[in-house]
Amino acid sequence: MASVYIALGSNLGDRAGTLVAARERLAEFVHLRAASRLYETEPVGYRDQPPFLNAVVAGATDLQPLPVLHALQQIEHDLGRRRSFPNAPRTIDLDLLYYNNLLLNTPELTLPHPRLHERFFVLLPLNDIAPHLLHPRLQQSTSALLAALGPPSGVREWEDARWVAGESGG
Ligand code: ADP
Ligand code: MG
Repeated sequence: MASVYIALGSNLGDRAGTLVAARERLAEFVHLRAASRLYETEPVGYRDQPPFLNAVVAGATDLQPLPVLHALQQIEHDLGRRRSFPNAPRTIDLDLLYYNNLLLNTPELTLPHPRLHERFFVLLPLNDIAPHLLHPRLQQSTSALLAALGPPSGVREWEDARWVAGESGG
């Protein structure tokens, strides 16, 4: 089994409901072990759009990396994501952050996710569940990567009873 960390984001419709639905779908092929809290974050890149809800989950899977990516894309499609332009609003975005300690650089899949270390909306939830996890390329822990970004801005904790963070993610 491989250890995977997956980032979830939504900024259209019932955001928390969509993240809960996505997590249920992930459980079909990932034995989920942990889920972060929810965070509401200001959009980066294309800024004229609603704020996101973000979270990170962790678990173990029998799938190889590309099949994991394709499964994430299938869930995005099923939950109503329509690709328009980069950084556009989306009902659901699922990114594969880590697959074991694998380093990969292909047109379709880069591991670790190439921008994870620049983003509060990834590092804050990841820090909830894996503060000591080492980034296999940068050789720094989540908490060190987070500290390197300076004081968090544009991010706040969010609560929704449907999403209970913890061991199994509710
Ligand atoms: P973003 O998540 O950066 O807002 P998209 O979700 O539209 O953008 O993804 C763009 C492309 O990123 C996808 O077509 C996918 O092939 C590629 N990609 C490369 N590495 C990864 C990864 N680790 N996780 C998810 N997608 C990835
Ligand atoms: Mg994505």
